Amino acid sequence: MDIYLVGGAVRDALLNIPIKDRDWVVVGATPDQLLAQGFQQVGADFPVFLHPHNKEEHALARTERKSGSGYQGFDCRFSPDITLEEDLLRRDLTINAMAQDEQGQIIDPYHGQQDLQDKMLRHVSPAFAEDPLRVLRVARFAARFAGLGFQVAEETLALMRQMVTDGELNHLVAERVWQETQRALTEDHPQVYFQVLRDCGALKIWFKEIDDLFGIPQPEQYHPEIDCGIHALMSLQACVPLSEDIATRWAALTHDLGKALSDKENLPRHFGHETKGLKPIKALCKKLKAPKEAQQLALLSCEFHTHIHRAFELKPETLLKVFDSTDAWRKAERFEQLLVVSTADSRGRTGFEHCDYPQAGYMRDAFQVALSVTAQ
Ligand code: ATP
Repeated sequence: MDIYLVGGAVRDALLNIPIKDRDWVVVGATPDQLLAQGFQQVGADFPVFLHPHNKEEHALARTERKSGSGYQGFDCRFSPDITLEEDLLRRDLTINAMAQDEQGQIIDPYHGQQDLQDKMLRHVSPAFAEDPLRVLRVARFAARFAGLGFQVAEETLALMRQMVTDGELNHLVAERVWQETQRALTEDHPQVYFQVLRDCGALKIWFKEIDDLFGIPQPEQYHPEIDCGIHALMSLQACVPLSEDIATRWAALTHDLGKALSDKENLPRHFGHETKGLKPIKALCKKLKAPKEAQQLALLSCEFHTHIHRAFELKPETLLKVFDSTDAWRKAERFEQLLVVSTADSRGRTGFEHCDYPQAGYMRDAFQVALSVTAQ
């Protein structure tokens, strides 16, 4: 039998970035042979084994054939005669489809090294279209490697668009979508995940409420980017150096969600504390089955953001009263985080740095009082 290091570990070593975990593929072996060598089987049906000493995952080489809809409809075939090249062919991106043998030699039948050099995220084969989860994975890798200059190859984007048109994305389950999304939120450029999903049309399938923000104008004097959707992505980006927390980043992205509805139904722009204004964020979190913490913070952020805007229109003497009477204010155990997500803007400024707002001085006073109260 031959054992190869595969996937992310090979890719990351070639990129000279830290390796997270190592996955191995075993070619030319049967489950019994591995068990005889002391490997432990993980799960009953799936031939993945843990190494007897280092406990790293070893999978038997396999091929896959699409037999039903969605990412679950696969027939997997395991056999000692399946080659390494066949196993690598079922993988999503060329940069993830390389292996390294025990002598350290790279096996690269689908030109992953060339794509690493060209900074391209390119699918390995047309079979990519058989698994809709791969659309989200590509968007996530785009978010991870954006800082290194990686882009999605035009032909891969075209295939992703086709998958969306064919309705493939509807076969995903909410749990998998949220799982990929929360991973994407931890990346250095999480906004790229949502941008790539928008580029291929997948944003309006799973994140319709965010997609609806695109095309809605904002006042240019506060938001030079003007478009509300772009503002949402920029706010997420601005939040990255401020917080690693998934819920906080999610709240930064979604803080303006009430706006699409207010525009459509001709309602006042900022009405988040009214039940109706919170509808889009509630609907989105419900559809994604987002965990309670992410939901709560997003709701608070929508609500609180509204009050900030309301406050701008208020007389200074009533400002403190507004903060004092808001629900957000009483519920906000993580007040400082809320402050951050509610005020992050496209220029990377947060909190009191919003100095070109005429009422910034009052805001600052109110926040300081608020912080001292929450600290007690
Ligand atoms: P990470 O650093 O996020 O762990 P990774 O590339 O190791 O990145 P994993 O999700 O651990 O990603 O998957 C390991 C390998 O398995 C990938 O590199 C890829 O070759 C393959 N893979 C995983 N999921 C899929 C999928 N849905 N379709 C095709 N190939 C996949």
